[in-house]
Formats: sequence, structure tokens, C-alpha cells
Amino acid sequence: MDISVVIPLYNEEESLPELSAWIERVMNENQFSYEIIFINDGSTDKSWEVIKSLKENNSNISGIKFRRNYGKSPALYMGFLKAQGDVVITMDADLQDSPDEIPSLYNMITSQNYDLVSGWKRKRYDPLSKTIPTKLFNATARYVSGIKLHDFNCGLKAYKKDVVKNIEVYGDMHRYIPFLAKNSGFKRIGEKEVHHQARKYGVTKFGLDRFVNGYLDLMTLWFLSKFGIKPMHFFGLLGSLMFLLGFISVVLVGFYKLYAMNHGMSYRLVTDSPYFYIALTMMILGTQLFLTGFLGELISRNSTERNNYNVEEEI
Ligand code: UDP
Ligand code: MG
Repeated sequence: MDISVVIPLYNEEESLPELSAWIERVMNENQFSYEIIFINDGSTDKSWEVIKSLKENNSNISGIKFRRNYGKSPALYMGFLKAQGDVVITMDADLQDSPDEIPSLYNMITSQNYDLVSGWKRKRYDPLSKTIPTKLFNATARYVSGIKLHDFNCGLKAYKKDVVKNIEVYGDMHRYIPFLAKNSGFKRIGEKEVHHQARKYGVTKFGLDRFVNGYLDLMTLWFLSKFGIKPMHFFGLLGSLMFLLGFISVVLVGFYKLYAMNHGMSYRLVTDSPYFYIALTMMILGTQLFLTGFLGELISRNSTERNNYNVEEEI
């Protein structure tokens, strides 16, 4: 099979018939063999009934229905598990992404050998309250991940099958799939300008908390990619530095007092000096950070991920 189209959706009943007809038309015009996988993320409207009736007329359509709303990432995860096509394409269900982009995305993966191609909504039809924070968000993501993409969170993306079978999208990590792919060793990450439309039906499913959570997730990913299987390298270094600084300070405080005593200067109890307490706190925090490192090592030792390498070839 050439293409799997994975579509996560939450309450998008009005858009679905139009979307699936449009995809069907594009696929037939280009003679692709394909499947469309709808993941109904616990919709409370008639989305599931619509999907069932669409499936009756088109056997390339399949669907998964979550019993409750889990989020876009879990929906993508299930779609990726099920996808069989050589190229997997994800798109939003709200008709903001255009199925007309599918053939060129497919070509970039198959002929230009990209592992992942991300859409870039250069001209966005979204409210300003969303486009401005998005710019900031993308700049941070570029800086942290080292991937030169303009639009990390574009719903329209194309992947080599290998990529989706080797990454694990969870939580809210759909915003950083290119970063996940890079961490799994997929280096050829490209970008294609895509057309974007204003939402035709329904409402957006994400509020402003997306940015707060987005930043927190970015920190998590940065940490995991650098220290995920060797937490001691992070906590150990930080803890040792802190402890050392505290230790040196406490010694200095002590020496200063001895010096003052022996040279007839006025002196106070060591415990009267604020530096003593700052130094003490640093030593305690340093020790705790160090122990956190040990705990981290114990946890990562038990993790099933600890020897999970992405082997590309073996002869
Ligand atoms: N979505 C989902 N589960 C959720 C929230 C959203 O499957 O909990 C789907 C939604 O139906 C849409 C896509 O994810 O197909 C993108 O959502 P939306 O269009 O609301 O995001 P925006 O375009 O505003 O960033
Ligand atoms: Mg949308």
C-alpha cells in the first residue's frame, strides 16, 4: 500500500464527509493505493456514526473509537500502530489542511528520500492570539531541538513508515514529532509550504494552555534526549558543583574566623554569619541532587527503554 492517511478527530462531524471525499478524489486521480484511518478521540457528537457510514461506501476507510477523550497524541499513536502504507500522512480533520498536498508530500518522501516532511503554514488563517505565540514557540523549539523547521506543530506531515513505527508519541508530544524522530536517529527532516484554511466548521480544541504545556514538554524532551538514559550525568554534575561550592564557602567562613581570632580582630560566632547558612543550604541541596541522580539511574535501569536502539540495517 502506498499511503496511510491518519486523521485524529474530536467532534468534527460536519467536516468528515467533505474531507474523506476530497482525499478519495486526490488518491484516485493519482492512482495511489491507500487507507484512511480515522481515530475518533472520544467525540461526543455524531462523528462515529459519520465514519461508520463513510466506511460503508469506501472500504479503504477504517476507524478506531476511543471510549473517552485522550488527546491528539494518543490518537496519533493508535493510528501509527495501525498504519500499513509505505508513506504515512497525518492531517487534522477540520479541513484546515488540504488533501491536495498529499501527492507532493508523497514524492518528497519517496523520491527525495526524506524521513519526515513537515507542513509549513506560511500564511495562516488563525486568530492573532494564536499566530504570535506560535512564532515564539517555534523559535524556541528550533533552538532547543536544532531542527530548522518553521512550523513544528503543523498537523499535516508525511513520514516514512519506519519513522512512525519507531517513535512513541504520548501525552502532548504531537507538537514535537520532528524532535522525537530526530532523537530516534531520523535525520532527513524536510519542510514543505502548505496551504492553510480557516476552520470551516466546529471550534478549535486547544486553548491558550497549549503554550504553557508546550514549553514544559519541550524542556522534558530536551532533558530526555540528553540525559534520558544517564540521569546521573545531569544530577551528579549539578549536585557535585553545588556541594563543592557550599563546602568551599563553609571552609572559607571557618578560616576567616580563625584568621580574625589570631590577628586580634573582632570576630563573631560562625553561626552568626549569613554565609554559613547559604553554604550549608548549598551542601544539602547538592547532596540531594546527587542522590536524585542515583535514583534516576535506578529508575532508568528498570526501564524497558534502556536498551532500545534503532537499528537501521544488519548484514
Ligand atoms: N483533536 C483530537 N483530540 C483532541 C483535540 C483535538 O483528536 O483532544 C484533533 C482535532 O479534531 C483536529 C486536530 O486534532 O482534527 C487538531 O485540532 P484543532 O484543529 O482543534 O487544533 P488547531 O488547528 O486549533 O491547532
Ligand atoms: Mg485546526
